[in-house]
Amino acid sequence: MNGCWDYGPLGVELLRNIKEEWWKAMTYRDDVEGLDAAILMHPRVWEASGHVENFTDPMIDCKQCKARFRLDTLTEMISDKNKEKALKEFDSVEGETLDDKFTALLEKPETAQKLLDIINCPQCGNKGAFTQPRKFNLMFKTFLGPVEDSNNVIYLRPETAQGIYVNFLNVANSSRQKLPFGIAQIGKAFRNEINTKNFLFRTREFEQMEMQYFVKPGTDKEFYDYWKDIRIQWFKSLGMTPSKLRFHDHPADKLAHYAKEATDIEYEFPFGWGEIEGIHNRTDYDLSRHQQYSGKSQQYYDDVSKEKYIPYIIETSAGASRSFMAFLIDAYYEEEVKGETRSVLRFHPKLAPIKAAVLPLVNKDGMPEIARKIESDLRPYFKIFYDDKGAIGRRYRRMDEAGTPYCITVDTQTLEDNTVTVRERDSMEQERVSIDKLVAYLQEKLI
Ligand code: ATP
Repeated sequence: MNGCWDYGPLGVELLRNIKEEWWKAMTYRDDVEGLDAAILMHPRVWEASGHVENFTDPMIDCKQCKARFRLDTLTEMISDKNKEKALKEFDSVEGETLDDKFTALLEKPETAQKLLDIINCPQCGNKGAFTQPRKFNLMFKTFLGPVEDSNNVIYLRPETAQGIYVNFLNVANSSRQKLPFGIAQIGKAFRNEINTKNFLFRTREFEQMEMQYFVKPGTDKEFYDYWKDIRIQWFKSLGMTPSKLRFHDHPADKLAHYAKEATDIEYEFPFGWGEIEGIHNRTDYDLSRHQQYSGKSQQYYDDVSKEKYIPYIIETSAGASRSFMAFLIDAYYEEEVKGETRSVLRFHPKLAPIKAAVLPLVNKDGMPEIARKIESDLRPYFKIFYDDKGAIGRRYRRMDEAGTPYCITVDTQTLEDNTVTVRERDSMEQERVSIDKLVAYLQEKLI
């Protein structure tokens, strides 16, 4: 169960804020509609989509210790020394780095087997104990209704996209959208990954934020480039370090069966570059297959050109949980302040789980009463935290660690002139703000 995670009180706020910002950016526009489709769908949907046949990873087992590995993860698991030793057995191997060479061998069945025969299992250390690679379908299966037989098999969705495709004409007709237009959805997806790892990066239950943009064939390249740009900007606009973001374009020989062009937006995690969002030109593959399997026309009538055709789809598919991890890591800083180490999460204010803390300097002289009044005035607008325990410096640090952008302190001067100290998290600068201007002040900074 190591790939299952629960989000605590701060985590759930951060996750919701990420999803909310995505939802606003993607659907508060006149060419994208929202959708929330069911997780359980007719099993034929997954035949049509190609998942029953193709959604597999190559898996190997260790005959000795029974550990299971995704074939392509072996490269990361074997030590460089063992890689070097193994590679000596091959006369010539293509690739610049040791890892490239190792991966190249694993990718070809004829050399993969030879390699597996000479490397040690990363878990038990035994040499040559691996089974032949075999295909493992990543979809979780269950049964619909009380009878557990093969006629009642149903899948947990491995992506949210198919729920959008089968609703394409419903949404087009009910919302009277004309091409080009998109449908966006946020929701859970499930993949029975062979190995989960790296915290939230690869889990079996995760959340996706997907938008499928339907376009006239021939205009697909233009919209593919357009969405690439919009999507990388979105991460930057929420404060992600630009130098830690890049595109990884898929070479033509590595494209998925449905794709004409594909790129990943990658983030530089502490363990290396990893995909956080995929952008794909899926052509008319999906709608054509659904037309074929359902027997229902998926053609769109274009009343400008007076033609009927199956639209092309440009997909932007981001992981909410993987983005969460990238935003969290990117925000984390440790710095020296007055001889002490301060840990701070520099979240963009829109993502910060708590927007402001209200702190009476001392728990007497009427300060708590004023602070409680401020708290209740701000609560309808923002997620607020009230804290009256301990030294003010420690209370500030606690809020730095949670990534709270503003701390509002009620102090002796408040009693004289109805102003409070507002401390900004990153600069730690303080300014005095009149209590009756606080809502407007925070709204300007946070929204
Ligand atoms: P990977 O190659 O890393 O398995 P993928 O290419 O299969 O990913 P897509 O099918 O394009 O991923 O899914 C879109 C997004 O969904 C990914 O960019 C990622 O953010 C997220 N995602 C996919 N699989 C997982 C998972 N097992 N755990 C968490 N997020 C995931």
